[in-house]
Amino acid sequence: MKILRVLPFARQVLAETIKPGELVVDATAGNGVDTLFLAEHVGEKGHVYAFDIQKAALESTAERLGELTSRVSLILDSHDNVQKYVNKPISGAIFNLGYLPHGIDSSIVTKPETTIKAVHTLLGMLRKSGTIAISVYTGHDGGKTEGDALLDYVKTLHQADVNVAKYEVLNQQNNPPFLIALEKMRAFEEPRLTK
Ligand code: SAH
Repeated sequence: MKILRVLPFARQVLAETIKPGELVVDATAGNGVDTLFLAEHVGEKGHVYAFDIQKAALESTAERLGELTSRVSLILDSHDNVQKYVNKPISGAIFNLGYLPHGIDSSIVTKPETTIKAVHTLLGMLRKSGTIAISVYTGHDGGKTEGDALLDYVKTLHQADVNVAKYEVLNQQNNPPFLIALEKMRAFEEPRLTK
């Protein structure tokens, strides 16, 4: 296989998981690059639930989706409320943390507490063998704290419940993201934590 950078690698993880007709979540729609990718992958019978707390992000996503908007629910709410909107099993979820590129306020960023709560909830909602890919940025204010908190959390997930991996490119400039990839190994409503 090619040694991909983090964002293409994150999409590859989901591409290997998602089958046409399934339901998936884009937890941070941003400018919609991953939303579009997911909409293409689930096909016309599948559906994408895309969350963002900024209207501008959902507008940018809708514009990118064009006709494929019909396969996507654009939800103006925090991703930790995902259970209010999705009540069937999902096959995958993707997060691209940090701030909205080209947005009006780069101080609006994902936060450790809500990110971890969303990941924990989504793990429960995943079907067996479903995956979650999280691209984590450490270059902005609060980014390293969020990354560390997330790593602390995922390391406590019981190995029989979730396979947890970290992937990073070591020689890239300008604070590239690293990836946390999670695979659900058995059916459960809530993952067990080991400490
Ligand atoms: N840092 C990435 C892009 C991240 S976009 C890059 O450089 O490419 C992250 C998006 O998450 C932003 O649009 C932001 O508004 C959104 N966001 C922040 N907190 C959120 C939350 N609690 N729920 C859903 N989306 C959130």
